[in-house]
Amino acid sequence: MSNSNSDNKELDEKAKTFKNCIDIKDRTYGFPRKKFESCFVGQEAVDAIIKEGLAKDLEEALELGNLLLNQGYFHHVQRAHQFKYEYLFYRFTEDEDHGEALTDTDGKKFSWSDLMPRISHTGELDLQANIPDPDKEFGDYTQVALDASPVSPMDEYNIKLLDNVMPRSWKNPKPKKKYHLVALGGGAGGLISSAGAAGVGARSAIIESHMLGGDCLNVGCVPSKALIYCAKAIANIKKGDKLGLINTDGVSIDFSKVMERMRKLRSSIAPVDSAERYSKDLGVDVFLGKGKFTGPNTIEVDGETLEFARAVVATGGTATIPPIPGLAEAPILTNSNVFNLTKLPKRVAVIGSGPIGLELAQCFKRFGSEVR
Ligand SMILES: Cc1cc2nc3c(=O)[nH]c(=O)nc-3n(C[C@H](O)[C@H](O)[C@H](O)COP(=O)(O)OP(=O)(O)OC[C@H]3O[C@@H](n4cnc5c(N)ncnc54)[C@H](O)[C@@H]3O)c2cc1C
Repeated sequence: MSNSNSDNKELDEKAKTFKNCIDIKDRTYGFPRKKFESCFVGQEAVDAIIKEGLAKDLEEALELGNLLLNQGYFHHVQRAHQFKYEYLFYRFTEDEDHGEALTDTDGKKFSWSDLMPRISHTGELDLQANIPDPDKEFGDYTQVALDASPVSPMDEYNIKLLDNVMPRSWKNPKPKKKYHLVALGGGAGGLISSAGAAGVGARSAIIESHMLGGDCLNVGCVPSKALIYCAKAIANIKKGDKLGLINTDGVSIDFSKVMERMRKLRSSIAPVDSAERYSKDLGVDVFLGKGKFTGPNTIEVDGETLEFARAVVATGGTATIPPIPGLAEAPILTNSNVFNLTKLPKRVAVIGSGPIGLELAQCFKRFGSEVR
């Protein structure tokens, strides 16, 4: 038995002994009767572990139970209580199936890094973004398909991002009998609603076809704010004399470093939106695949049908390319791939002057592009 937050072998052993001496079974409670699968009762567990000699008295038993609970070995079935000497139901995390990252025969998780040549950060990065070739059928399409725009370059940061939000070998859980809530889309909307539902004890599932975190983490708020921070720093340095800075002439920008910093920050935030966290820590069933409604209360994903009482449609949006004559001949960037850039474009034309267009225009201008 091991726990995602802890490599503590001693605690693993204690958790194993704890689990071996308590009575885990399906229990029913409340009116109307509600079934809680594979759980144990706090009060019974305290008596059992004292009898087993794992704790000498009530105080020590509660201390051990709460240590295991806080380390994520088990939790109250509705995640509403600490470990108490009361008629409360608890369940071991490993007895739940919310989906899991598969491991190889050595127990190592499959990573995107297994497939990718390693990119060193010692030299200058000169990989350029995947700018799509102008499409002859341009007139026929207007919407950018997210899954046609993977993140790049595949350095250690983007590999970490993908390992968290789009794990290479994810095994979807076996669908539960009926979900109280299914969120379609794993962006900000779907993540918040599915976690909120699970947090108040509902059977909750999330379905994501591309990258958990959606626009905000991957191609929206997070990367854009990381760029704005650098752009503002550069602008401040350039007006350094007014701020009391000296010797600021000749300051130059390493755009590849700016983008590398962004990728590093984005990957450091990724565990918060990860499949692992949602399944293990938050108790949400994580399904990776494209969801398709098949009835008023059913949705299909990866060949399985999920039944639900309520569904949240949080499929977000993607960039639309306006039908401007001549645009088809230009190398087009949208939010889906602009954050893949590693070389500063000499000239950038920004179409659209909403907040996203404005912030990107300002950033590129401050980095040194000619912006129209
Ligand atoms: C450059 C940029 C900067 C931004 N900056 C900010 C900011 O500073 N502050 C702010 O508040 N907002 C900002 N936003 C807006 C913010 O990113 C979005 O409002 C937010 O991400 C919307 O969340 P969502 O959950 O509705 O949709 P999304 O984040 O788009 O998520 C939808 C998800 O649904 C998935 N999906 C779609 N169809 C299916 C299907 N059939 N099955 C399974 N999954 C599916 C998609 O793959 C996607 O992951 C910014 C956006 C951009 C582009």
